[in-house]
Amino acid sequence: MTDESAAPGRDFVRQRIADELAAGQHPTGVVTRFPPEPNGYLHIGHAKSICLNFSVAEEHGGRCYLRFDDTNPLKEDQDFADAIERDVRWLGFSWEDRLTHASDYYDRFYALAVQLIEAGKAYVDSLSAEEIREFRGTLTEPGKPSPYRERSVEENLDLFTRMRAGEFADGEHVLRAKIDMASPNMNLRDPTLYRIRRIAHQRTGSDWCVYPMYDFAHTVSDALEGITHSLCTLEFEDHRPLYDWILDQLGLPHRPRQIEFSRLNVAYMITSKRKLAQLIEHGDVTGWDDPRMPTLAGLRRRGYPPEALREFCRRIGVTKKDHVIEMGLLESTVRETLNETATRAMAVVNPIKVVLTNYPDGQSEMMAASNHPNRPDLGERELPFGRELWIERDDFMEDPPRKFFRLKPGGEVRLRYAYIIKCEAVIKNDAGEIVELHCSYDPDTRSGRPGAERKVKGTIHWVAAAQSVPAKVRLYDRLFSEPRPDADPQGRDFRALLNPESLQTVEHAQLEPSLADYAPGDCCQFERLGYFVADAVDSQPGAPVFNRVVTLRDSWAKAEKAALADL
Ligand code: ATP
Ligand code: MG
Repeated sequence: MTDESAAPGRDFVRQRIADELAAGQHPTGVVTRFPPEPNGYLHIGHAKSICLNFSVAEEHGGRCYLRFDDTNPLKEDQDFADAIERDVRWLGFSWEDRLTHASDYYDRFYALAVQLIEAGKAYVDSLSAEEIREFRGTLTEPGKPSPYRERSVEENLDLFTRMRAGEFADGEHVLRAKIDMASPNMNLRDPTLYRIRRIAHQRTGSDWCVYPMYDFAHTVSDALEGITHSLCTLEFEDHRPLYDWILDQLGLPHRPRQIEFSRLNVAYMITSKRKLAQLIEHGDVTGWDDPRMPTLAGLRRRGYPPEALREFCRRIGVTKKDHVIEMGLLESTVRETLNETATRAMAVVNPIKVVLTNYPDGQSEMMAASNHPNRPDLGERELPFGRELWIERDDFMEDPPRKFFRLKPGGEVRLRYAYIIKCEAVIKNDAGEIVELHCSYDPDTRSGRPGAERKVKGTIHWVAAAQSVPAKVRLYDRLFSEPRPDADPQGRDFRALLNPESLQTVEHAQLEPSLADYAPGDCCQFERLGYFVADAVDSQPGAPVFNRVVTLRDSWAKAEKAALADL
């Protein structure tokens, strides 16, 4: 089935399932699984697979398993498994009581391997790993049979039993499927089913010293769980004949079908756990949950709402075409979600002091400000106003171009929710740097007061100095400055393409007082600046730390489109 044959609004996977259901197949429901290996944190690519597997099951009244593919104890860890559970839950999906592990089935795998040996479909090979590779041939040359390929069933059973009993060293023998050493599909040239690994497993301890290979464990797990649709990425297309071969030999009651779809690649991002781990090892980022990481933990800490990620996955759809999604699409989805949900507040990240010389010393007043421009349900708050204020340094220019409508010497600007002010004097230090602006305010222009609405061209944000909350603000940008860091057309190593400006830390931002109450993880729009989130790790009561989630506008859009078009 091709992508094109799906009905509008339906991808080819859903179309195929709909057709099968209409034909009366799957009477006990659609069953899917998300099968991560607990060897790292989940990333945005996994989000696509999670959304697909869980949603497809949900839409058809079916079930989805979260199954840990834990067959390589060398690389796996319980901490990774815990993080994966947390991230899938955060993304908004529930496996209910269907949390399983490949290691739950080790006894079954072993028994089925014995069954294959007894049927003459598997043999113990004693070639070294290197010899096996040599004997396998190449894409253009057939492989050669191993001298051990014709061992008798009895000998194979004896050796396999002894492999399991721990009589041999790692690599001394493997169990291989007996399929076809001349097959044009390399995966069918007697693939390895079991190998010796004399190390403890995070869940089964030292019970086992032979571990199944991915293809065998994965296929059998799917069948044992009654998976109807084994959805995986395109690189497994060539493994499907092996998947089907294993099912054919074992004759298990359920026969899952594998369907492949294209991986998610997002421009400027890397989706390989191995490479992400390297960034951590080199200290390029602070960990798996660094807000610049494309991991779900990183995106969560960055302030991306889970509903935005689900919506993003919905928008990109599911096809068999390999492509790179613009990061702009991800960011605009985040922006749209936060535009609806995030409360507004004022913060000054690069402050310069304004003194209102005609505002009585010691006086202050409260200004009403709505928390959201079109959501009255989010209420209002009161902003203190006084003689000394912080404004953004960029909102003043001593020698501005003609179309500059913010503050300039002798010019007027409206302070949001407050008064119109006029710049009367620019105060400099001995080095000639501007340290303060002396302004006058027009008492007849208080916002919201009927009849007093004189108009000026510019409106800027501000924070009252007496009540402002000092904070650290982290301005994040994309982690890589090139669109395909993991497949650079010039062949540069991905770490050479890190964006040196991916993090800019502002130590002394000034926030309006309401922002002191934001709990870690709470999102907000700093008016005119972008969306921000109170950092889940570093933000403390009395010492807030805010991360920029996303800017209000896509400043990369043009560059990104051009860069992707060039590839
Ligand atoms: P990585 O290359 O990052 O190590 P992986 O495929 O080895 O990823 P697994 O833990 O085996 O990681 O993946 C679990 C599931 O997520 C698999 O079914 C895999 O196909 C899917 N998956 C992984 N990366 C992507 C991606 N970029 N887009 C869509 N699905 C993905
Ligand atoms: Mg994998």
